[in-house]
Amino acid sequence: ASAHVVVVGGGFGGATAARYLRRLNPEMKITLIEPATSFVTCPFSNLYLGGLRDWASIGHGFDGLRAAGINVIHATAEQIDGAARRVILSDGQSLDYDRLILSPGIDFRWDALAGYDEAAAEIVPHAWKAGPQTQALKAQLEAMEDGGLFVMSITDGAFRCPPGPYERASMVAHYLKTHKPRSKVLLLDSKDTFSKQALFQQGWEALYGGMIEWVSLTNDGQVLRVDAAAREVETTFGTRHRADVLNVVPPQKAGWIAERAGVTDQTGWVPVKGNTFESMLVPDIHVVGDATIAAPMPKSGFCANAQAKVAVAAISADLAGRAPPPASFANTCYSLIGPDWGISVAGVYAADGDAIIEIPDSGGVSPIDADAHFRKAEAEYGAGWYASITADIWG
Ligand code: FAD
Repeated sequence: ASAHVVVVGGGFGGATAARYLRRLNPEMKITLIEPATSFVTCPFSNLYLGGLRDWASIGHGFDGLRAAGINVIHATAEQIDGAARRVILSDGQSLDYDRLILSPGIDFRWDALAGYDEAAAEIVPHAWKAGPQTQALKAQLEAMEDGGLFVMSITDGAFRCPPGPYERASMVAHYLKTHKPRSKVLLLDSKDTFSKQALFQQGWEALYGGMIEWVSLTNDGQVLRVDAAAREVETTFGTRHRADVLNVVPPQKAGWIAERAGVTDQTGWVPVKGNTFESMLVPDIHVVGDATIAAPMPKSGFCANAQAKVAVAAISADLAGRAPPPASFANTCYSLIGPDWGISVAGVYAADGDAIIEIPDSGGVSPIDADAHFRKAEAEYGAGWYASITADIWG
């Protein structure tokens, strides 16, 4: 009989895996488990906040995957028994697999930032998984008075989308400049440097003047406590900031099903073999996307897509009795600072044994001295990237 591969998660990594399994294995039985009937992408959710995209344009259904002959089940995987190779779903079904691919994304470490738990997130959104949280943040921005203060608390450590907070700040500033020009954006950061920093700061200065203020770790930017009801945060040195709209990007870990499957380590993330993205801890389970420890690759949708293709190639080869092909990956993270001002960072990576390395002298960031024409072209490339990757995945 042909093999059965089960994929958990219909986001960037999981939906890519299901589609590319089908391409390489026309006869294979493929089941995709995803609770959402429309997946809302975090990429371009900042543009929705900025008023540059509507809600419908960042949601993607699963009809394309169904049409490709993938069995899509809208449920949650509740338990995974790696020894029995079995997944138990929230609707009571039990599925036996030959290989399992997990791409559950992230969850939040609710115990890590005092005062910021699931109840607090209902008042003070993270919007770091796209969906109702993103809409709640947008509604708060729209309800804010001109002259108000938008505060974002930004985590350190490993987190989804390293340039994401700074793109969000840009898009919020774009919205405020357009609709509420006396307002301010305050970024309280637990780090001293950030992704594409010089490019972001140059764009902020040019487009938003002094509207955005960034406070580094050294300058008392680290938030240690959140008071959601008061919309107030307290930093390491005891400074309190009261916000009109407060957005917290909290500490993160792998999606909870990874821990139940036994594939996480003490960091809360998933160690994998770089050439196959098979779990280091449980055989026949491959994990891709944000849940994995894949540094120097960042936690991006582009990377999740590339990693899923590598995992699929490895599984397809293995089931056919062949060795996996050598793995290589690419990533580009575009960020939009203003409607006509795009920037990017790119990298090329390869597996080196179980590790992943960045190919020396590959990739890089946009030039700092580029002209307006160049920035506008990068904004267009970003839109092109979004259109092509979402067609590649959800079709
Ligand atoms: P996800 O895409 O989050 O998919 C995980 C899926 O698994 C979800 O649909 C979830 O419902 C499902 N799931 C979880 N647990 C279970 C379970 N137990 N059973 C069944 N299903 C389950 N990346 C870029 O490349 N470019 C960008 O411009 C970009 N912009 C971003 C902007 C923001 C504001 C943010 C927050 C992120 C951005 N990212 C960007 C990062 C990108 O969103 C993630 O890296 C990407 O979504 C990771 O893919 P994934 O498959 O690991 O997780």
